[in-house]
Amino acid sequence: MNRIELMKRAIELSEESVRIGGGPFGAVIARDGEIIAEASNSVTTDHDPTAHAEVSAIRQAAGRLGTHDLSGCEIFTSCEPCPMCLGAIYWAHLDKIYYGNNRMDAAMAGFDDEFIYREIELDPEDRRKPMEELMPDEAARAFRLWIAKEDKTEY
Ligand SMILES: [Zn+2]
Repeated sequence: MNRIELMKRAIELSEESVRIGGGPFGAVIARDGEIIAEASNSVTTDHDPTAHAEVSAIRQAAGRLGTHDLSGCEIFTSCEPCPMCLGAIYWAHLDKIYYGNNRMDAAMAGFDDEFIYREIELDPEDRRKPMEELMPDEAARAFRLWIAKEDKTEY
């Protein structure tokens, strides 16, 4: 499938999702034009605030390929990824993001990804969500263990 066909599928998934009670988002992960995984938003239907289409598609693709590294794959999403999904896409090492709607379109539909993007740019103490550092010395032990571990799988 070419990139137009793959995006058409992502958009189709976003519309189907609305019909079955999910959010209006769909995503497809493909490698060399072949669909590896596809998903739609199931936040309300699965009671999972992280069940965005992109995150769900990444979980499926990684499970199907048996790796946490999705290098060589591209994601087609019906909407520009929110900060959570964008982070997941970076962690998954996907090669490229194609998107249909952008974050302003999402905000107009009542999904304020743009708000979270703006929060990220602020210093932690200026964000609306309170953050407090707690027990950093104790927490650092896991990093020391990780750094010293010789047989670790890096990602
Ligand atoms: Zn998202």
